[in-house]
Amino acid sequence: MKFNVLTLFPEIPKAFFESSIMAKAVQRNLIDYNLVQIRDFAFDKHKTCDDGTYGGGAGMLMLPEPLGRALESVDAGNKRVIYVSPSGRTFNQSLAYELSREKELVFICGRYEGIDQRIIDRYVDDEISIGDYVLSSGETACIVIIDAVYRLVEGVISGESLLEESFSDGLLEYPQYTRPEEYCGMKVPEVLLSGHHENIRKWRLYKRLEKTFRVRPDLIIKLRESGGLSEEAEKIIREFENGSD
Ligand code: SAH
Repeated sequence: MKFNVLTLFPEIPKAFFESSIMAKAVQRNLIDYNLVQIRDFAFDKHKTCDDGTYGGGAGMLMLPEPLGRALESVDAGNKRVIYVSPSGRTFNQSLAYELSREKELVFICGRYEGIDQRIIDRYVDDEISIGDYVLSSGETACIVIIDAVYRLVEGVISGESLLEESFSDGLLEYPQYTRPEEYCGMKVPEVLLSGHHENIRKWRLYKRLEKTFRVRPDLIIKLRESGGLSEEAEKIIREFENGSD
């Protein structure tokens, strides 16, 4: 899978592509990337990439022409183009799965007040927000999305670790422990040391439901609506509901 990132600050995503699991995935040819400096496509000798907005208002907007030429340089017309923007639809794990099935993606990172609407109208397929807050630039948002997407590409990390993590089936993850068995007087739960697989499975399900019920009740509602809760899980949740009356 290939990520094209159009940005005024390529050094920000560059560090991400050159580190840790991503660096290994690139080395193994599972992932390819192309960082495009939008400023290289500016016309004038000052390499201007922004100007004031028509109609007034505070702040600068990215000029459409350099950005348009940068998009043409990656043949954006034939690719899925994402503009990371606070006014897009909210990113989540199921969108991450959907994007991980694409062969190639093009990301536009905004700066200042954002980009000219005509670029969105002409090139952008999806406007995606990473949450209801405003960042100073799109690079960090773009890295968040790429990070969630590339790890789902086959071969990047083991399929088993993907199966049980948060959101994989609509629930948050269970608590996890490693050595030592006792840390600052706190012991690893007995059941995890028992080697009894069925009890461990039950305990983990209970913990996942307990946490999701407490911090993300909206996820429980969604699961119920979609029929995604097993009878076993439904029983445990009813206990929580009765207990919280
Ligand atoms: N004037 C814009 C905010 C611009 S913030 C508005 O009010 O909607 C500058 C850039 O940061 C944006 O162009 C976008 O690329 C990025 N950005 C800011 N917040 C973001 C978010 N929550 N999700 C994704 N991208 C974001």
